[in-house]
Amino acid sequence: MPLQRLPKLPQLLDRKIYKTGQTRGADDDVIYQNRVSRSSTVLIPYRCWNLCANPHDGGEGYESGFIVLLSPSEYFGNPKITAELAANDLALGRNALVFYETREAWEAHNPDSLRWQPAKRRTNPLGGRYVARIPATTATDNGGRIVRGFDVTSNKGAGIRVYEYASRATTAKCRLQLEALFWLCDDSAKVAVSNGMTPEDAATRKAAVLINCKESRLLDLARLTKARTLNARGRTICPLCLEELAGQGFFNRMEQAEGREVTDLTVTQLNLFHIAELRFGVQNHRPYNVGWGHHHCNVVVKDTGIVETLEWMRRVLNRNMQEGHLPTEKKAS
Ligand SMILES: [Zn+2]
Repeated sequence: MPLQRLPKLPQLLDRKIYKTGQTRGADDDVIYQNRVSRSSTVLIPYRCWNLCANPHDGGEGYESGFIVLLSPSEYFGNPKITAELAANDLALGRNALVFYETREAWEAHNPDSLRWQPAKRRTNPLGGRYVARIPATTATDNGGRIVRGFDVTSNKGAGIRVYEYASRATTAKCRLQLEALFWLCDDSAKVAVSNGMTPEDAATRKAAVLINCKESRLLDLARLTKARTLNARGRTICPLCLEELAGQGFFNRMEQAEGREVTDLTVTQLNLFHIAELRFGVQNHRPYNVGWGHHHCNVVVKDTGIVETLEWMRRVLNRNMQEGHLPTEKKAS
C-alpha cells in the first residue's frame, strides 16, 4: 500500500519525521536559511569547490542550484581569479559571491566604493556580487553591525550548508527509515495508540512501513546495527549511549519557550541524530547515517563524532577516578 494511503501517524510524530527533511534553525545573523528543505540552494565555500561541485547522493546537480562563496582574500588577493572562476564555470553575480565577514576586509575592499550591489536572489542572476554579515564592534567608531544581502524577512538567508543538502528522493528514503526506527522501539505500538491511533491502524501502518522499508533496501539489520541505530535485539537505540529508546520520547514537544525548558523533557526528548560527523565533501543526511537519539547525547556529540566523544569521555572518567573524585566501582545503592 502506498504510504500516503496508510492510516495517519499521530500529528506530533508525523511533524517530527517531516522536519528531518529540513535544515536546522539558525539565528538571523548568519547567511543560512532557517528550517527549509534540504533540497534548497546550497552555499559552497570556494575552497571546497572541488569536493562539493556535485551532490554526493548521486543526483545530477543540486536541485535548487548552488552559490559559491569566496572570501575577500580569495577574490581580491588573486589577480587571476576571474579566469580561474570562469574555468570552473563560475562567475560573480551568476553563481558566486564575495562573502564579507570581517570589518578589516570590508574596509580594505569596500563594495560601495566598487559600486557593487548586495545579492538579492538565490538563482542566476543573483542581483549583486556580494553578501555581508559583520558583527558589531565597540573598538572603532562606526562599529555597527553590517548586514547586506538576503536580510529581509521575506528573503532571509542565502542558502543552506552544503553538507546539510539532500535531494528530495534521499530525504524521502531517510524519512521512511526513520519511521521504521520508531516502529522498532519496543513500546511503539502502545505509544502510537496512547497518542491517538487505533490499535488496528497502528498495526497496519507498522507492518506496511517495515515492508516498504525492506523492499527499498532500507532495513538491512546488520547495517543498522553497525550504524548504532539498532541493537542486537533489533530495538532502536541512541547512537551514543546505546540505551533502548522509549517510544514516548518521540511525543515530547520539540521546542519549548526559552527559559521554560523542563529538565526531564530535555533529557528524554529524542532528536534526529546523524551518525558520522559533519564534514565538507560528505552529505550526512543519507540512509544508514540517520537515527534517533537523546537530545542530551546529541548535544554532547555535536559535530565531533561519536568515537571521538567516547574517547573524550574515557579520558574524563579515568582522570576523575585517578584523582579520587569518582569511586572506581559503583557504590551499592
Ligand atoms: Zn543517549
